[in-house]
Amino acid sequence: MRYVFDFDEPTDGGRELLGGKGVGLAEMTRMGVPVPAGFTITTDACRAFLASRDLPDGLEAEVDEHIRRLEERTGKRFGSPDDPLLVSVRSGAAVSMPGMMDTILNVGLNDEAVQGLARKTGDESFANDCYRRLIQMYGETVDGVPHDRFSADDDVERARAAYTAATGDEFPQDVRDQLRRAILAVFESWSSPRAQVYRRAHEIPDDLGTAVNVVQMVFGNKGDRSGTGVAFTRDPSTGEQGLYGEFLANAQGEDVVAGIRTPQPLRVMRESLPNAFDQLVETMRRLEEHYRDVQDIEFTVDDEQLYLLQTRSAKRTAAAALKAAASMADEGLITREEAVARIDPAQLDQLLHPMIDPAAELEVAAKGLNASPGAASGGIVFDADTAVERAKAGPVVLVRYETTPDDIHGMIAAQGVLTVHGGMTSHAAVVARGMGKPCVAGCEELALEGTTARLGGHELHEGDVITIDGGTGRVFVGEVPLVPPQINEDFETILAWADDIRRLKVRANADNPADARRAREFGAQGIGLCRTEHMFFGDERLPVMQEMILADGERGRRAALDRLLPFQQSDFEGIFEAMAGLPVTIRLLDPPLHEFLPAEGEVTDARLRKRIRALHEANPMLGTRGCRLGLQFPEIYEMQIRAIARAALAVQERTGDAPCVEVMHPLVGFREELARLRDLTESVWAEEAPDLEHLVGTMIEVPRAALRADEIAEVADFFSFGTNDLTQTTLAFSRDDAEGKFLTHYLSHGVIERNPFETLDIDGVGDLMRIAVERGRATKPDLKLGICGEHGGDAQSIAFCDELGLDYVSCSPFRVPLARLASAQAALRETAVPA
Ligand code: PEP
Ligand code: MG
Repeated sequence: MRYVFDFDEPTDGGRELLGGKGVGLAEMTRMGVPVPAGFTITTDACRAFLASRDLPDGLEAEVDEHIRRLEERTGKRFGSPDDPLLVSVRSGAAVSMPGMMDTILNVGLNDEAVQGLARKTGDESFANDCYRRLIQMYGETVDGVPHDRFSADDDVERARAAYTAATGDEFPQDVRDQLRRAILAVFESWSSPRAQVYRRAHEIPDDLGTAVNVVQMVFGNKGDRSGTGVAFTRDPSTGEQGLYGEFLANAQGEDVVAGIRTPQPLRVMRESLPNAFDQLVETMRRLEEHYRDVQDIEFTVDDEQLYLLQTRSAKRTAAAALKAAASMADEGLITREEAVARIDPAQLDQLLHPMIDPAAELEVAAKGLNASPGAASGGIVFDADTAVERAKAGPVVLVRYETTPDDIHGMIAAQGVLTVHGGMTSHAAVVARGMGKPCVAGCEELALEGTTARLGGHELHEGDVITIDGGTGRVFVGEVPLVPPQINEDFETILAWADDIRRLKVRANADNPADARRAREFGAQGIGLCRTEHMFFGDERLPVMQEMILADGERGRRAALDRLLPFQQSDFEGIFEAMAGLPVTIRLLDPPLHEFLPAEGEVTDARLRKRIRALHEANPMLGTRGCRLGLQFPEIYEMQIRAIARAALAVQERTGDAPCVEVMHPLVGFREELARLRDLTESVWAEEAPDLEHLVGTMIEVPRAALRADEIAEVADFFSFGTNDLTQTTLAFSRDDAEGKFLTHYLSHGVIERNPFETLDIDGVGDLMRIAVERGRATKPDLKLGICGEHGGDAQSIAFCDELGLDYVSCSPFRVPLARLASAQAALRETAVPA
């Protein structure tokens, strides 16, 4: 097997084999973009290493051969005392894991070669700077010398002394040995704890391995006509067109990434290095056109000569993703379908996060960079471990001088991140944007001393609450009023394109007029689940509800129900009006009655205690709830149906339009249950609103209902999959307890891959759904089908619902945009011609 390929060699291997950086360098080489020469060691080699903990046979000989070719090409020799070839050894996995793995620069210097480099360049301090950097980076990455043993102010002697003090060895003079151990260190870094945490957080498989790129060094640290930088073809925060990035004169890449020096905006380069700047602009234009996507690049200017060291699709905020996709479609760079396909539905969530109320009069304690949008409040923590610990008790904001990849677990645990130091492309900024978390970076007014923070005249300690606004860079002491998110034009544009593509309709789960209105603003095409139980809470209603439950007989219950009816009716009227012209599915009372009663221990009244005890069930979720209530106490459902019919009539009279009402019965498992409840529904309806159209249907949320869907469909106009209960009952996983108990263990130990309450268990629950669809439609081909469990707002589950041929999905109002996009993407995948 071959393990090594030059950048300009044709290969069949893509990103999986060469890693993202490797394919990018090869592609840029092919395009004629200025890229230093070099070669890629494949992920196959890394996987072989991970299996045996040793470099695979033949790899070293191949590396030697490719070094020889590099020497030929560059006219330099590896380890030469006269004109040494220096290389960087850079990680690059198939999936981008920014900053998680290791890179070593200036490999190939030793005590003799450094003198050769000094003579050749006529710049001794430059040569020494390279050597000092090598000793430090090599020490840290290859030998695990702690970062704080070195300083950027060290000279070669001091760096070497620190190296020897920490390792007990002289710095290795054999350059081939340096190279070999650097390659091993990059392979090893795939397994580092921080890389593992990152992979878990991003669901990246552990067995991919990383490629290694060995690249001829070009030098940004040769003085003022040199430098290094990172740049985006569009603003990664907003998506606005135009170059965006940072530049550091007389520096090597690690200085930018590690935040040792604060970089300057890219435009300073236009003044100091105009030719290289123009070339950069032109190259980035070409790259974006070639990849048809926003690119994130690393570059170095070596004595006015530009080199690209990396290009990749830029991680961007949701707002930037929408703006870039919409404008690239307008520019004709991509189609509308491609624009829709490019947005990660989960990312839309970012835009739907609450923001700080713009009208609130607030005292801004400090300002930093608006590195990743959204607002977050929480108790401050000063290190990642404490973040994880304290996040168990409540929201935290991680406050650091700057973050490093070792902080990744703390960033995952925190609501947001605030750093003193570092730019828009700093680690904190890039990682937070990728996670969709608010981040304010480079807040230089913030002073940290141990576990004390000084911020705008305040002295803060661990646990004190602050609020950060990643959209504006503002930092506040204490909690701050938030407002619902603002949807912008690009969001509307992309979702309108998605609407043209999707087949599934999207409804919302809402049980009050405000939520219904919000759902409608987000594009909901109706209500798929109006849970009526929430309407029985509230100071005026709960006592009446309790009276109803505690009544001795039907007479007493009816008396209480008569008083509840007007409340229900006015709720329904509000919802019908908010949803005018769109269907509203109202689900009759579902939960076990004891949910409305106080706990037995809280009650002194003996009669009440007795009644509460009588209602007690060992497994209430499998007990007297859903349609079982309606059948045992028909007067409850009768009141609800009456309230629905009267509300529909009243709204019709008021507005001239009849609401599209769908009455839904929960927890049905037998045809007979629904048949009886349908009769009840029809007879009440005939009394109240004989001329108003309506539908009667059922939830499918117990396995028996799915299996007997053919019979149940005889008496149903529609089915709505209640996948919360269907998951609970199919898996025998309690929806109230599993997630806090064994499910966590199952997920962390890989017994199952996903939380089935979040993403449909397609093999099990999904199979029952498929059976229900087939059997239901066999009886009634035009049976209306939907889903209203939480899965209706999960992209992967939505794709499955599309495949099943459901008519709609229904989800919480904030998820409606996500569902519109995910439905369109599902439709696009279905129509795509298989490769
Ligand atoms: C369900 O079970 O999926 C459902 C939507 O109903 P609820 O969550 O109210 O039980
Ligand atoms: Mg249910």
